[in-house]
Order: sequence, then structure tokens, then C-alpha cells
Amino acid sequence: MSRETAAKLLSVLLAAALALALLAPAGAFARAGGGHVGSPGRSGGSSSRGSGGGLSGGVPIPIPIGGGGGGSFGTIVLILVVVGIVLYVRSRNGGSGAGTAAPPVPPQTTSLDALKSTDPDFGEQGFYGRVNEMFIAVQHAWQARDMEPARRFLAEQQFDVLQGGVQEYVRNGRLNKLDGLHVDRIEPVSVTAEGGYDYVRVLVTATVIDYTVDERTGELVNPGVLGDGKTPKTFQEYWTLVRKQGAQTKAEATIRKCPNCGAPVTDGNYVKCAYCGTQMNDPSLDWVLLRIEQV
Ligand SMILES: [Zn+2]
Repeated sequence: MSRETAAKLLSVLLAAALALALLAPAGAFARAGGGHVGSPGRSGGSSSRGSGGGLSGGVPIPIPIGGGGGGSFGTIVLILVVVGIVLYVRSRNGGSGAGTAAPPVPPQTTSLDALKSTDPDFGEQGFYGRVNEMFIAVQHAWQARDMEPARRFLAEQQFDVLQGGVQEYVRNGRLNKLDGLHVDRIEPVSVTAEGGYDYVRVLVTATVIDYTVDERTGELVNPGVLGDGKTPKTFQEYWTLVRKQGAQTKAEATIRKCPNCGAPVTDGNYVKCAYCGTQMNDPSLDWVLLRIEQV
């Protein structure tokens, strides 16, 4: 392929990506099939929390191409752009395809045990404890209609999805109550390595009394569908966490501490540490919640 041809192809791909972006309806990331009782997102109808990859405003987090779940619109656009750039770079390097651009490395299946080889303090129970901590924090923030306190460990795009969901409740003057929430179990689904990052996908099973009330009157909203305020329901979500390879587990680490300096996370300082200034939802420092998929 000549350099000119590749450049033309790149521009076509970029134009296609832009057109798709402009044409995409609002809520393109929302998972179809709302109305599933049991976790934040479905009660509001269109504000499902399921989302695609990790297109990130601050810390760049790569999207695992093989990382489960349906391919999202964002993923498709990114792949188009990446393909275009790879072709362009190859053409610049001689056009034969034998240039310096590295061939794509498929995701490799690993295991939680394998993580210990580069991070001796990593442990399965500690990891599940962290997921449990995140899970409770996400539900509390959801119920309070403010996802900011959970931002310390949320990838930017997942934060946006959740924050969009709670804003819908604010607009509608509704509160999504989650009484008696507890995690029943956390099971490993897959552990993969790709592009210098480790991805762990787990299935979380939890139980909650989930219902929606009018914030003004306190009355139940559509109790037949959104919960009667009395009946516990069990629900499941796939959670995908990401961390850069080489990052180390720190003793006493928690979502309530800065992953860099260990200072407590203070009110209002949920992204940048108030003490050391580090951006805390950085997968090169600690596990970040990349994606929530409702089952
Ligand atoms: Zn810090």
C-alpha cells in the first residue's frame, strides 16, 4: 500500500468514526433490557450502568479487546481509529507491513495466582475484599445520587455512566433506595493480560431491598415494577477491574486511602490526593473499576 493510499484510508476511517460519533443517539452506551430489579441503573429505565471500555478523560486506560461483554460503540470507534493509525504508520515505515509497528498481541489468559509472581503481596481474599469495598461504596454513592465519593477507584467513563444515571433520578425527583444491601459472593470469571495491563472480571451476587420513592412525598413509585420496599431481591453484576502490570499491592490499602502516599481520601478530594496531588484512579497505582455489566 502506498503512503498516499494509506493516508487516504486513514482520513476515510477518521471521517467514518466522526460520522458515527455525531449520529450516535444519546445513551448509546446503555445496555438494552432495563427494568431488571436489583441494582442501580435499571429503575430509571434508560440509565443502565452497563458500559463499554475505558475511554478516559484523565488517566488513559486501554480497552481490553478480548475483555468480555458486548463491543460498545466507543470500542468500535477506537478500533477504527487505531487501525487507521497502524496502517498509516506501516506505510511510513516502508509500506510492506514489515515495519517497526508491533503486531497486535491477543489477550492472554492468566490467573490470580499468576499475579503473585510479579506482586508477591497480592492475594485472592484481599482482592475480593477490595471488590466488596468498592461494591458497597458504589451502591451508597448511587443511593445518595452523587458518584463523586466513589471516583477514587472508578475509570472516568464508568464514572460518567453512573453519574449520568443518578442525574436522571435527580431530574425526575426520585430516590432509589437500597436497603439491607449485602454481597452474597464474588466469583472469578476471567483473568487476562493485554497491552501491559491485567484485567480481572468477577461476578458479584448481592441482595438488596430495592425501591424508588418520590423525594417530595416519600411515596413509592411504581412499586409493582420498581420494588415494593419490603421484598429482598438477589441480583448479579460482572465487574471488570484493571491494573497496570508491575503495580504492587500495598499493605493496608483501601479505597479510603491514596494509592500513592497512603493519606486518607478527604471529602471533596476524590480524584486528586489532597496531600501528594496524585490522580488516584490511576491503574498504574492500584485497581480501577473499568466496567460494570448487569446480568
Ligand atoms: Zn497521596
